[in-house]
Amino acid sequence: MRDCGEVMRTALADFIRDTPEGREAQEILRACVHCGFCLPACPTYQLLGDELDSPRGRIYLMKQLLEGEPVSACTQLHLDRCLTCRACESACPSGVQYGRLLDIGRALTEERVTRTPAALLKRYLLRKLVPHTDRVRALLRVARIARPLLPRQLAAPVSAARAADSRREPWPTAARARRVLLLPGCVQPAVRPAIDAAAARVLDRVGISTLAVDGTGCCGALAHHLSARRETLHQVRRNVDALWPHIEAGAEAVVVTASACASMLSEYGRLLRDDPDYAARAARVAALARDIAQVAAAESEGLAAALRRAAHRQAPGMARVAFHAPCTLQHALQVSGTVESLLTAAGFALTPVADRHQCCGSAGTYSILQPQLSARLLRLKVAALESGTPDLIATANIGCLMHIGGGTSVPVCHWVELLAQRLDG
Ligand code: SF4
Ligand code: SF4
Repeated sequence: MRDCGEVMRTALADFIRDTPEGREAQEILRACVHCGFCLPACPTYQLLGDELDSPRGRIYLMKQLLEGEPVSACTQLHLDRCLTCRACESACPSGVQYGRLLDIGRALTEERVTRTPAALLKRYLLRKLVPHTDRVRALLRVARIARPLLPRQLAAPVSAARAADSRREPWPTAARARRVLLLPGCVQPAVRPAIDAAAARVLDRVGISTLAVDGTGCCGALAHHLSARRETLHQVRRNVDALWPHIEAGAEAVVVTASACASMLSEYGRLLRDDPDYAARAARVAALARDIAQVAAAESEGLAAALRRAAHRQAPGMARVAFHAPCTLQHALQVSGTVESLLTAAGFALTPVADRHQCCGSAGTYSILQPQLSARLLRLKVAALESGTPDLIATANIGCLMHIGGGTSVPVCHWVELLAQRLDG
């Protein structure tokens, strides 16, 4: 590796030099000064101790790729092992947009390195099953019957879905002066529909109606992280089309209760910037995209008043909660400490959680595609969450919720469900 402080000189290969991706990659590579501050933040470097499984090492691999050097299955393996958690971006003093570089590097590697038929089939099935709520529901029905035979990482979501069946909760019907749209996504409506209903009730208490928009579906994150560009853009365009009439009618935000999906929505403008039919609308959707934590934080005064009113209706009780901040919330959306403040204001006692910046190992499809590394990260995360003997574990993303639920006997929920319970009295 080069000396710390030396700017990375890159001579891009002809195939990429004069493309938008090439120019973007060049800028990102130039920003990296090889200081290595990102290494301690990287979960895979912490586990494997190999520079090529660190952000700096992967950046170097992608530089070689962009300079036209041969790409091997070894390069692909090190890029595959990346969780896309973006903890390295939070740690980087030079503002290196590692996640964006990884998108470019992975797509190029995918074009150059052929995967085994088994690996291709696994990735194909993930793309064809997970982004479709009806298919997830059908799978869950089958999985319930086969649950005792399933491996842990598949049994956990089944357990979460069983809990959801008995926890369907009402959606407020009062029309409020303010209105937001909600994108339900794909897996969550099948596994935990109670989360979106809880968010709608919380927003109702501060005078905001929530409309779950028909015709939307998966945000596109799964296909995007599997470098399936055409599928990604199809899903993004479908969502833009479905959301747009409601945005034109005056909705003030597009709210998502899974932080991974909120992060993906915030990328819509960039993803469709070269599509003249969609660029402006996609940019508008991205500008309006909010995780529920961002909306709740903006309404904290109204929520405080609603909590005071609700306090008269319920017996005092202070559940101890360990909060897991998903990587997409703290590193991609840069929302840090917000949920903790909201839960504390609602009367929950937060227990200490060490290494809060570290990924739980869920990371979209990572728990399926990299099960050993994912399981090691899960054990570390569960130990950190359980260390303060909480009554509950709360998080902000359905993938983390299901994954952590598979590694602990402590109940795991979305934090907005806790807030809704407090407000419901
Ligand atoms: S990505 Fe950032 S923190 Fe990591 S080596 Fe490059 S400049 Fe340093
Ligand atoms: S995204 Fe996460 S796993 Fe990937 S290099 Fe950065 S810190 Fe490491």
